[in-house]
Amino acid sequence: MDQALTPQDQAFRDEVRTFIDGALTDDLREAGRLTAGAFSEFNAGHRWHQILHGRGWSAPSWPAEHGGPGWSETERYIFDSECARAGAPLLLPMGTRMVGPVLMRFGTDEQKAHYLPRILSAEHVWCQGYSEPGSGSDLASLQCRAVRDGNDYVVNGTKLWTTYAQHANRMFCLVRTSTEGKPQEGISFILIDMATPGITVEPVITLAGDHEVNQVFFDDVRVPIANRVGEENQGWTIAKYLLEFERGGDTYSPGLHAAIALLRRVAKAELAGDGGRLADDAGFALRIAEAEADAIALEFTEKRAMSEMAQGGQPGAASSLLKLRWSEVLQRVAELTVEAIGYYAAPVQREARVAGSNAEPIGPDYGVTLMPTHLNHRAATIYAGSSEIQRSIIAKLVLGL
Ligand SMILES: Cc1cc2nc3c(=O)[nH]c(=O)nc-3n(C[C@H](O)[C@H](O)[C@H](O)COP(=O)(O)OP(=O)(O)OC[C@H]3O[C@@H](n4cnc5c(N)ncnc54)[C@H](O)[C@@H]3O)c2cc1C
Repeated sequence: MDQALTPQDQAFRDEVRTFIDGALTDDLREAGRLTAGAFSEFNAGHRWHQILHGRGWSAPSWPAEHGGPGWSETERYIFDSECARAGAPLLLPMGTRMVGPVLMRFGTDEQKAHYLPRILSAEHVWCQGYSEPGSGSDLASLQCRAVRDGNDYVVNGTKLWTTYAQHANRMFCLVRTSTEGKPQEGISFILIDMATPGITVEPVITLAGDHEVNQVFFDDVRVPIANRVGEENQGWTIAKYLLEFERGGDTYSPGLHAAIALLRRVAKAELAGDGGRLADDAGFALRIAEAEADAIALEFTEKRAMSEMAQGGQPGAASSLLKLRWSEVLQRVAELTVEAIGYYAAPVQREARVAGSNAEPIGPDYGVTLMPTHLNHRAATIYAGSSEIQRSIIAKLVLGL
């Protein structure tokens, strides 16, 4: 594939850059800068989503027929790169990147007409109800039960690690509708209004001290049968389709390049043991260069996968390869950045991480987020399927072993 941008692509990049530079307010930039994990502070991300929606750009990968911008893969990559370059808040992927493509493929006309516009506008904020205590990698063993009663399912059970469930007003959820046959054959995919009586959301605080994930409890929660996507007991196919988009529906390398740019900035500012700058230390510079080479290799693989996707439609098993490699390089970059700043990574500075706070940072301003970022990125090799699971998928479906 040709890597050079055509004059049209360059014009598109300039258009996107100009829009982002004008639309990103100071507080949104600050929220982007203070992001220490996979997502930005909820309100900032939500506002940025709405601003992008106003321009028709809130779902970069959606086709025009469903209200997306209908961009080519190159345009999508340019857009993501420009957002990362500008330090825009990170958007929640559960609506546009996960349940959106599922509804386009498996939803009824009514479901598409109702949900897709509300995903685009972020009126509906989604969370993902897949994992349960004891059912993560072995997802098909899930126990959360949905029993038919008239026109409703009655749901009982629990979901764990549910990201941003405290902010979501909708959940796409895997439930057990049958215990007959293989576990995969008794699962259904349903859409739940989080305001339904019987739902309780309890926080789970992460290593970095953040409230990002939750446990959600269902106690006789009534969900209309009309909210099921696809056939009853056919949810496993839909669940796997969604996971391909969770792992491969986004671009990985723009964020990685932004993390390496921050690492370079820190290494230029910090001192090495010999009194010179860390960036000039041959050993440290080599480790940055190795990480950057890996990021560039990932970028090329990603662009190849995107180009294949443009021909064929869905990310496929190669998304596991991208997710695996991205999470490993990301963790390495975060570790190097913590190593570069040294002692100033240690203070816990929760107040200084809140956009608009007047808490003085201890040490350089860029130090505030480095340790929480490192700690939050420890989860990158676990969420969306652990590295061991990704390797098994690659062995089976990519390498044919
Ligand atoms: C920060 C964070 C956010 C998350 N957000 C969500 C969310 O929004 N919604 C949601 O539904 N889930 C979410 N998850 C859950 C995530 O998908 C699971 O944590 C993940 O699938 C692993 O499952 P588990 O935690 O049950 O670990 P386990 O499955 O118990 O795995 C424990 C260890 O055993 C290894 N292992 C397990 N099975 C195998 C095997 N067959 N072969 C080799 N090794 C194996 C795993 O790789 C891992 O190292 C989130 C998790 C985290 C950490």
